[in-house]
Amino acid sequence: MGLDPDLPKEFFPRFTTLSFLSALGSRSRQPAALAMSSTTNPDVLVVGGGIVGLAVARAARLRWPDASVVLLEKEPEVGLHGSGRNSGVLHAGFYYTADSLKARFSRDGTKQWTELCLERGLAINRCGKLVVAKGPEELDGLEELKRRGHRNGVQLQEVSQEEAREIDPAAKTFQKALFSPTTASVDPAQVTRALAADALEAGVELVFNVRALGRKGAALSTTAGDLTPGYLINGAGLYADKLAQAYGFGEEFAILPFKGIYLYGDPQKRRPRVHIYPVPKLTRPWLGVHFTIGVEGQVKIGPTAIPAFWRENYRGLENLDLKEAISILGIEAGLFLRNDFEFREIAIEELKKYRRRVLVEQGALLVDGTPMETFRTWGKPGIRAQLFHKKERTMLMDFVLEGDDRSLHILNAVSPAFTCALPFAEHVLDEMEARTR
Ligand SMILES: Cc1cc2nc3c(=O)[nH]c(=O)nc-3n(C[C@H](O)[C@H](O)[C@H](O)COP(=O)(O)OP(=O)(O)OC[C@H]3O[C@@H](n4cnc5c(N)ncnc54)[C@H](O)[C@@H]3O)c2cc1C
Repeated sequence: MGLDPDLPKEFFPRFTTLSFLSALGSRSRQPAALAMSSTTNPDVLVVGGGIVGLAVARAARLRWPDASVVLLEKEPEVGLHGSGRNSGVLHAGFYYTADSLKARFSRDGTKQWTELCLERGLAINRCGKLVVAKGPEELDGLEELKRRGHRNGVQLQEVSQEEAREIDPAAKTFQKALFSPTTASVDPAQVTRALAADALEAGVELVFNVRALGRKGAALSTTAGDLTPGYLINGAGLYADKLAQAYGFGEEFAILPFKGIYLYGDPQKRRPRVHIYPVPKLTRPWLGVHFTIGVEGQVKIGPTAIPAFWRENYRGLENLDLKEAISILGIEAGLFLRNDFEFREIAIEELKKYRRRVLVEQGALLVDGTPMETFRTWGKPGIRAQLFHKKERTMLMDFVLEGDDRSLHILNAVSPAFTCALPFAEHVLDEMEARTR
């Protein structure tokens, strides 16, 4: 059944009348067609029910209370991909250069999420983070992080080896370390659901089980019919490049999926107590294998950044899309042969981490007393939607926005986009306003 564009907006019931739980939790809300449940021509249509899409949709309703805002999600719930499958760390903002969006928004995002979690009683562990050096060759890297932190206005303390041990007796470092007191962790799935509840309360209409397929003239074609929004915002995560390309944007890019897996420690042996990270390779967009402490104090090692073969390649042949896999494998094979951005080393190093022994050994470089037998349980993997420039053959490091007066596309919403989501959403709306003026 298609949509009837002639019906007035008022004809369609709004989800705002549903309770939080029925709107978010129920898998039974399978709209046969959008006409059953939503406006056909919302002022703003957001694609993607991850943390970024939800933050943007909520911010749009708060900024323009008279506007109708609809959010489309292909899954039956919010946060089933990156937003519900990450480390849940609120990154303080010292990894990124001062001119980047990531630097600005992670500092502000950490503050906003922390306040929000405390205010709402959402789980948060404000344990802080140590960045440790494995040897003398990493001291320059620590200095660079310290410089970046200061430039970004992030609270960061340089501590001696002894002081690092006082913060966490398990920490292993060479000469000194950095301590970030504002780094915290949250339960990412819980926070994503809470944001969806807020969006709903703000008047956003959430529509589940509907996939955006592509552009059809002025309309967006979906699995439940066509929609003609005043403005479209693409927050489709791993599929954001595909939707952008349907609108004539992001032609030079492709999203490459990188899989992050985790290994959980024995819940009885909670060691370390604070997040412990290595000095990262600053040419790579991820931070190296580290220890993350969950909201209940649970310890995990990871995540990896293993090249995946298709976008939602979580387990076995689950979600396999053959055409997509052939295209991604083609790009990855080219990168491997030419060794662009050290892809060959990355692929080999990362693939080894499927072995428990390798992951635990890497962890043991950062933390004393990391016995193999206490790290046994593999956690739920997540997949990074890393943007790749096809001509320049490079990985993009910062968030990318492309669009015009009809649509805006959020590309490369990689880590720490979870941390950044609230202030980043305001930026997205500023960019939309600038393009529609
Ligand atoms: C292993 C790992 C660890 C990470 N750790 C951290 C961390 O500690 N801290 C941090 O800040 N960040 C972290 N990140 C990054 C963070 O998870 C992401 O940056 C963030 O979740 C991106 O949110 P999103 O809304 O853009 O994407 P997603 O959460 O992927 O949401 C996109 C949504 O769009 C939907 N969608 C896609 N295509 C369509 C379509 N055609 N039609 C309708 N819906 C569609 C999807 O189903 C999905 O729900 C990590 C990521 C990974 C993978």
